[in-house]
Amino acid sequence: MPEGTVHDVVIIGSGPAAWTAAVYAARANLKPVVYEGEPVGTEIPGGQLMLTTDIENFPGFPEGVTGPELMERMKAQAVRYETTVISELVTSVDMSQYPFVITPSYSEPVRALTVIVATGAKAKWLGLPNEMKLAQQGGGVSACAVCDGALMFYRNKLLAVVGGGDTAMEEALYLTKYASEVVIIHRRDKFRASKVMADRVLGHKKVRVIWNSEVTDVHGTDEITAIELTDTVTGEKSNLDVGGLFIAIGHEPNTKFLNGQLDLTSHGYIKVDPWRTSTSVGGVFAAGDVIDDYYRQAITSSGTGCMAALEAERWLAHHGIGESPILETAEGPVEASPEQMEEPPTDRRSVPRPRGGAGVAR
Ligand code: FAD
Repeated sequence: MPEGTVHDVVIIGSGPAAWTAAVYAARANLKPVVYEGEPVGTEIPGGQLMLTTDIENFPGFPEGVTGPELMERMKAQAVRYETTVISELVTSVDMSQYPFVITPSYSEPVRALTVIVATGAKAKWLGLPNEMKLAQQGGGVSACAVCDGALMFYRNKLLAVVGGGDTAMEEALYLTKYASEVVIIHRRDKFRASKVMADRVLGHKKVRVIWNSEVTDVHGTDEITAIELTDTVTGEKSNLDVGGLFIAIGHEPNTKFLNGQLDLTSHGYIKVDPWRTSTSVGGVFAAGDVIDDYYRQAITSSGTGCMAALEAERWLAHHGIGESPILETAEGPVEASPEQMEEPPTDRRSVPRPRGGAGVAR
């Protein structure tokens, strides 16, 4: 068990969910500690919005804002109050002990009374050399049609969508509002998507499908100009001129480091209670894309980040640990059994008060 301070709340992640949770927790005087991660492949501190340029749908920015700038501003807002930021990945959280023990990559493990997991879900990319470069410079490659499809850049152009599942169908249909034509590139000869979605796509007059093909290269220096296709049956290569490329081959929630301690949905997202961010372990909350395979937007991630911080604050109050008032809308306080009772800590930041079922699956 690590020595030293026990934090009221440790937040893991650095996207809109984490920074919003930090702002709320910091303003509630909980002095949050945020582990913002380290660059690993397409995972960079700041989250998924670091992989895109113009954000036109985050309220408060009528002129738009770039993804990296939005994230910098969110972080600055959290740091302006009392948030400590540590630029390391969390490699494990031990939920069998209370206070919870959080182990980062390099520094010493720390203890926390509540944990907010806001580690996001990484969009899967093809892994082609030019793909990420063009995505990050706003050059016409994206992994989110709902986010980027309405940008002027994509209007009235031939847009390619890669994928064959329901997400690819949705993205293709969404893009028909803006594109001159949508071409779906699929490596098999039939879709994985549900029949209803596939039928809607196949019946749409603006959509064409290129079957048995993979995108094997992306051409263009500042902006995408074409994609190279390889026939998965014959191996033959061809080029298709496009004005945009949308990768819709799925997402992977970042939950491996939790080592199966939280209940997950059948799609691998952290399971939370309806309209709450509480997880299967008392005192552990989750927010953002790591709980959401449906909306996957910055604003919804911020929304659940706010919810998680409020819930953590109330959870501490219910357990007699925090200072926050118990709001009328919150659940009633948790009764401690006589064995769990102990003298209240004199310095609540340095003396843990392990009671009330934290770390115990509800
Ligand atoms: P993320 O933004 O995914 O951030 C989580 C971060 O936590 C990770 O990136 C990583 O750095 C860190 N992390 C992960 N594991 C650990 C760990 N073990 N320890 C410490 N840190 C860790 N949404 C919009 O609303 N508008 C848009 O215009 C828009 N454009 C998009 C464009 C693209 C190309 C993509 C891929 C997404 C876009 N989105 C957009 C969606 C939006 O980015 C996500 O919904 C949002 O970022 C999710 O926020 P989050 O806080 O849940 O997690």
